[in-house]
Amino acid sequence: MQSIPSHARVVIIGGGIVGCSVAYHLAKRGCSDVLLLERRRLTCGTTWHAAGLVGQLRATQNLTRLAQYTTQLYEGLERETGQATGFKQVGSIAVAASEARFEELKRGASMARCFGLEVQILSPGAARERWPLLATDDLVGAVFLPKDGQTNPVDTTQALARGARKAGVRIAEDVRVTAIRSARGRVTGVATEEGEVRADVVVNCAGMWAREVGGWANVSVPLHAAEHFYIVTQPIAGLASGLPILRDADACSYFKEDTGKLLVGWFEPRAKPWGEGGIPETFAFDQLPADLGHIEPLFAAAMRRVPVLESAGVQVFFNGPESFTPDDRYLLGEAPELRGMYVAAGFNSIGIQSAGGAGKVLADWIIDGHPPFDLWDVDIRRCAPFQRNRRYLRDRTVETLGLLYAMHWPFRQAETSRGVRKSALHDRLAAAGACFGEVAGFERANWFAAAGAEPRYEYSYGRQNWFERSADEHRAVREQVGLFDQSSFAKFVLQGRDAATVLGRICANDVDVPPGKVVYTQWLNERGGIEADLTVTREAEDAYLIVSSCATQTRDFSWLCRSIPNEARAVALDVSSAYAVLGLMGPRSRELLATLTDADLSTAAFPFATSRIIDLGYARVRASRITYVGELGYELYIPTEFAQSVYDVIVSAGAAFGLRLAGYHALNSLRMEKAYRHWGHDIGDEDTPLEAGLQFAIAWNKPGGFVGLEPLMCQREAGVRRRLVAIALERADRLLYHNEPIWRNGELVGRISSGMFGHTLGAALGLGYVANSGVPVSAEWIAAGQYDVEVAAERVPARVSLRPFYDPASARVKC
Ligand SMILES: Cc1cc2nc3c(=O)[nH]c(=O)nc-3n(C[C@H](O)[C@H](O)[C@H](O)COP(=O)(O)OP(=O)(O)OC[C@H]3O[C@@H](n4cnc5c(N)ncnc54)[C@H](O)[C@@H]3O)c2cc1C
Repeated sequence: MQSIPSHARVVIIGGGIVGCSVAYHLAKRGCSDVLLLERRRLTCGTTWHAAGLVGQLRATQNLTRLAQYTTQLYEGLERETGQATGFKQVGSIAVAASEARFEELKRGASMARCFGLEVQILSPGAARERWPLLATDDLVGAVFLPKDGQTNPVDTTQALARGARKAGVRIAEDVRVTAIRSARGRVTGVATEEGEVRADVVVNCAGMWAREVGGWANVSVPLHAAEHFYIVTQPIAGLASGLPILRDADACSYFKEDTGKLLVGWFEPRAKPWGEGGIPETFAFDQLPADLGHIEPLFAAAMRRVPVLESAGVQVFFNGPESFTPDDRYLLGEAPELRGMYVAAGFNSIGIQSAGGAGKVLADWIIDGHPPFDLWDVDIRRCAPFQRNRRYLRDRTVETLGLLYAMHWPFRQAETSRGVRKSALHDRLAAAGACFGEVAGFERANWFAAAGAEPRYEYSYGRQNWFERSADEHRAVREQVGLFDQSSFAKFVLQGRDAATVLGRICANDVDVPPGKVVYTQWLNERGGIEADLTVTREAEDAYLIVSSCATQTRDFSWLCRSIPNEARAVALDVSSAYAVLGLMGPRSRELLATLTDADLSTAAFPFATSRIIDLGYARVRASRITYVGELGYELYIPTEFAQSVYDVIVSAGAAFGLRLAGYHALNSLRMEKAYRHWGHDIGDEDTPLEAGLQFAIAWNKPGGFVGLEPLMCQREAGVRRRLVAIALERADRLLYHNEPIWRNGELVGRISSGMFGHTLGAALGLGYVANSGVPVSAEWIAAGQYDVEVAAERVPARVSLRPFYDPASARVKC
């Protein structure tokens, strides 16, 4: 029996490729007091049977950086450790059998260039030159990424483990972790079958077991296993060696050449969840029963693309489980529920290509106490606590596997596990024709269909079926009045004698204001990056209402709670479910509201950025004069059980004022015209308020300063090297979504962070950062440029402005 130490600075649970990569990178950072515990043998979970594709292009720049790093790491790992990895940089080809798919690939190619990846757009003929057995008769085009590769997952994991061991990491196999120990909100170690191990940090890399492992410490790790299929053929005569990986997403298939055979795998639209009753404890180097009926249609589609498969014998039918998350993005970072408890799990079939980068940034995160750059896309704090619900996960997993190869349509909505979180007004909105979209399980009206029409998306990269409906909602808000259900907002109360002091330290703006004042502010990290973007209303001397977005509820509440010093007399409470929120927005909102309340709504009595409790109908609600659409308007915070009656009186009185129900697509269009930033797209923990053009919300001189002040002062002194600008395309037939490259005088200077069509301006709009080759960016430099935005590999002329295109002086908001 081996003996394991009773203490390690870091304990890693799980010896798949991810756990080994975290161990390797911790050691690289000089932290070798690391103990990796594997219940059986290294790679025995999912890693051993992976197909070994290593692609580089991901949906965002930072995830692409991580995948790029993985490729570079694997390329040199054998030289470094002496352990062969089987890594080969063969490149990859993705083919398109429809114009829409080709547009998607070309948009991806534009993004790839923007991220510094080598990429070529190919004709079908050129694709066949690189992949001679390819049937191209129905192809429209293809994209080639020469630096993509393939690797042997087992050998690569062993190389990472060897590198880690060489640097002092201890790896113990056949040791199962059975519990996580914690005290006072911090992890303190683990229990194992061989005794207790104390630790400062515990990392959950337990693959498909990770949800259960997290559950031991009440940490949500929402993932579920699904069956994943591939076959390996007998040797195929005439199959060239060193072929690029081939992906035919329209046929749900990928192809990898290895030693004269083809491995063919699938991401089918309806997957088979597995392990619903828990992952068996005995599972090691196991596979699941082949399901020939399930793969038969997939195989047929693959044969159409690579006809030689028709005559190739099949050597292996493989079916193995892999973990999937509700949004197809992996789970990384420190769990909001427990300090010192980190997670790296839920790799959605890209764990081999992600492991290098994910291991590196998680090691940095553990050692430095924060992520090295913006990792919000994969940050575990994006998850809502309910998402560990097994039934929800099982049903969602049916869809998530296939989404890897499905069309990544703009505004695409999940079809499974819907209707989980609903506002008190949901049924009323549904009856009025709402088409709902989902954020963290919350159903939100995105647009309203015409009477009698089905509220259903018809997706495309162009103007979708809701475009004109949403345009009408937009115009109603600009010209008359619109009503938004914004109940999904996250709402927190901070209360207690020290509330003002505690919040003053966190907020970059001054929140020591009279009760009734609303303050727009950011929360910054020690590096001056924006952790949160929210409004703070002083309800009383000792009480604040803090409002942020649904998507950041867990993250922001965790940040708030962790910012309260032990000795402070202040308590934070998440009151999101206690209030519905209606946004009554537009130039006629005051007139309409005046018919329902006796409160004095005049600008003198109730100016912009103030908040009052008012009578409304038979209820008492908090009305705040604040807007995300750039018009006169009120956010109404209504105790949930009053929401329906308040809604009913507003809607009934609204007819006389041209009131229209409006959805989130209209909201997005309106806010884009005003260049209001969106946290998670336009601003994040890597962006400072100075770069984002939010200096108006910094209280430079407030007593006691605030977290993040010092780096901001340095940046103010030195000048910013990148700057957020508003962008409008000169052509109205192209639409912007995100990540489109921005060119200035023929040079790549940035990319779009968010995009939407602006119906008042009649143009596709975007926000995006531009940089001037590492020197400070001045207003003159920005104004002097000629700009284009690259949309699907085509450059479209654009206007750029530091100020919003719509009502730059905010006269309409403050009236
Ligand atoms: C058929 C198939 C093909 C794939 N192809 C690719 C591909 O081409 N490219 C790609 O990038 N990805 C691919 N993947 C995905 C990839 O294999 C996974 O994402 C990756 O292996 C996940 O690694 P992991 O370390 O998170 O999990 P695992 O490899 O499952 O490691 C988790 C480990 O934790 C251990 N463990 C669990 N509980 C405990 C405990 N209580 N105590 C101690 N140890 C514990 C387990 O024994 C296991 O070894 C594929 C997956 C499948 C199923």
